[in-house]
Amino acid sequence: MICPACLSKNTAYRFDKNGFRIEECKKCGLFFCSKVPTAEKLKKYYEKDEYCCKKRNAFIVKLENKYFLRRFRKYIKKNSVILDYGCGKGELIEILNKRGHYAEGVDLSQRNKEIGRKKGIKINSGLDPKKKRAYDIIIMRCSLEHMAEPILLINKLKNALKDGGYLFIDVPNINSKDFKVHGKNWVIVCPPYHLLYFSKKSMNAFLKNNGFKIIKLEDSKIPSYIFPFNTPLIFNVFIKIAYLMIPSSLIKSEGSSLMIIAKKC
Ligand SMILES: [Zn+2]
Repeated sequence: MICPACLSKNTAYRFDKNGFRIEECKKCGLFFCSKVPTAEKLKKYYEKDEYCCKKRNAFIVKLENKYFLRRFRKYIKKNSVILDYGCGKGELIEILNKRGHYAEGVDLSQRNKEIGRKKGIKINSGLDPKKKRAYDIIIMRCSLEHMAEPILLINKLKNALKDGGYLFIDVPNINSKDFKVHGKNWVIVCPPYHLLYFSKKSMNAFLKNNGFKIIKLEDSKIPSYIFPFNTPLIFNVFIKIAYLMIPSSLIKSEGSSLMIIAKKC
């Protein structure tokens, strides 16, 4: 197998989940789904009701979005042109537009595109190849882990960014306490939706190899999706409290997600 992030052939089988095989790259540490379904099949997965039409509490979604943007606010200048790549229903875009920026999104789901249209926001099904050096910022929030060809994509995104533009990334962290405790049963381990599982080391190598300078790369105890499960709120609160109560000293590992700010070189 070839690592999709660093192209090393030095990989090893780790486990199976949902009928998919997960390998680990011995060079950069990336965990990845080794046999990715075709683009056509993936599209069908994303149109499934359980994925696309998950009802989430609107207030929580808003809170999560504001928390996400707060961590990057220093780098968002007035009237920025922003692309949210993997924007879902476009909630983050709405907030950015309300704050005076121009934001648009890309999402694979036809339904999300339609939802965006009704809300008056632009969601395309792919990156517009004509857009070169068009964006001040590209956001990949809980989206890079879904990508089948990350090197191809990151280079397309780099071309779409203005020189000196920023990439904001938020992905699950495979070196987290969650993975150490739950292993492959961690809710985040969900191929064929999540195909890539980054650590600080693999993210660092991936971005540097593809022309980005890392400004910030840190793990976060509270991920931007604070309550990721489609379960009653009280159950989520209980899980989160129980999780935070396990002393970190017992398990030498990091927070649930990685937050990255990278600059186009
Ligand atoms: Zn690798």
